[in-house]
Amino acid sequence: MSLEAVRQQAQTLVPEALERLGDYVRIKALSRDPKLAGEVRRMAEVAAEDLRAAGLDDVALLELDGALPCVKGSKIVDPEAPTVLIYGHFDQQPADPAVWSTPPHEMVRDGDRLYGRGVADDLAGWLSQIVAFRAWSEVGGGPPLNVRFLLEGEEEIGSPNLGRFMTEYPEAFAADAMVLTDCENPSTDVAGLTVSLRGLLELKVTVRALRGKVHSGLWGGALPDPAVGLMKLIAQLVDDEGRVVGLEHPVDPAWRESVAGLSPDDDDLRRDAGLLDGVAGLDSGDRPRVEWMWRQPHLTVVGTSLPALDQTANVILPHASAVLSLRLAPGMTAEGALESLRARIQASVPFGLQVEVEPSLGTAGWSYEAQGPAFDAAERAYKDAFGKDLVRIGVGGSIPFITLFAERFPTTPLILNGVMDPRTNAHGPNESLHVGLFGKVVQANVNLLHELALALRS
Ligand SMILES: [Zn+2]
Repeated sequence: MSLEAVRQQAQTLVPEALERLGDYVRIKALSRDPKLAGEVRRMAEVAAEDLRAAGLDDVALLELDGALPCVKGSKIVDPEAPTVLIYGHFDQQPADPAVWSTPPHEMVRDGDRLYGRGVADDLAGWLSQIVAFRAWSEVGGGPPLNVRFLLEGEEEIGSPNLGRFMTEYPEAFAADAMVLTDCENPSTDVAGLTVSLRGLLELKVTVRALRGKVHSGLWGGALPDPAVGLMKLIAQLVDDEGRVVGLEHPVDPAWRESVAGLSPDDDDLRRDAGLLDGVAGLDSGDRPRVEWMWRQPHLTVVGTSLPALDQTANVILPHASAVLSLRLAPGMTAEGALESLRARIQASVPFGLQVEVEPSLGTAGWSYEAQGPAFDAAERAYKDAFGKDLVRIGVGGSIPFITLFAERFPTTPLILNGVMDPRTNAHGPNESLHVGLFGKVVQANVNLLHELALALRS
């Protein structure tokens, strides 16, 4: 048996796997919708079937009261050998067909890309691992180390029960290294290793002035207007460049150097994020743009109590509220950020309005050294498959399952990879997977099992 034979077999399996991906996409495994719990369960059974077909043993659905199931499977080739755990999730975000160009629950190919809800986040993520595992089973005499798969069905609703699964089924998670395949790559030909996440703080700000609505023609000019006051209040939380005032986070200059060349330019923003012609991206100053996306806080208004456009009336509103979402730099605590923001809000309420600040949710950011034999193994595995160095990247969002793995398994190396690229648009309309990238990730997965077997044994 040679590694080369396993690699070739894996590539032979890719077309069939991509067809199978089309079957996955047709199942509406939307964990957010309780009416579709049966579909999530059906997806779990299909995943279990494919794990069995790939050669895994002890494949089963893990159950807990009040939770959608996880799927597990393992191949213990030698109880003395090291073990790797592979994580993915088979649930999906909802998709509104009105804003998609193709039916979201049918997989459609256009050039190098496959479109469909969940294709890249995260169906093809764990599928790429099944393909690699299957190639090892078919022509490699089995994987070169012990392998466990653990697929979750509630990632898209924030992994509310994953911690309980870890507690109730510890043997399903027991491993010397973990490969969490649900992250992004900087482009379709450069592989990414995710090493940081931003945290998230949500808070509701309410300003009040009146007991009830009054006519804006009769009283406008005499009374403070809470709607306008709220907008003034929010506007002064950011500076002229759109950066949150007073919350800049220190960043290591060596880190800035390590991300040289990774920042999207305005053309990338136009192509990948739909920025309009004539509008520029935010000015990054002397920093790389990715610092503002991964390592600095950012404020977004995610909801307001203001009347909808088809419900306008000539009144001064008695009160107005907004929900603010503050992305937190890795290393920044939700408590610290809340105190800073609360102080700034209270110090600058316009028009003498009453103000109330209610935090609703907070998770800290996370960052990782990613040093040691398992990461050296990942670097070799990816360099071989991509012909380029693996690049350490951050994620601007907050991903609860990663924080959970990091808390529960603080000394286990976590290798965060995936099949997404900047055009994937996970969670948005027209989510897509790049076929060539999928093939390279499959190759890297084949290599990774080989490299981890060597690295973890020594
Ligand atoms: Zn995901």
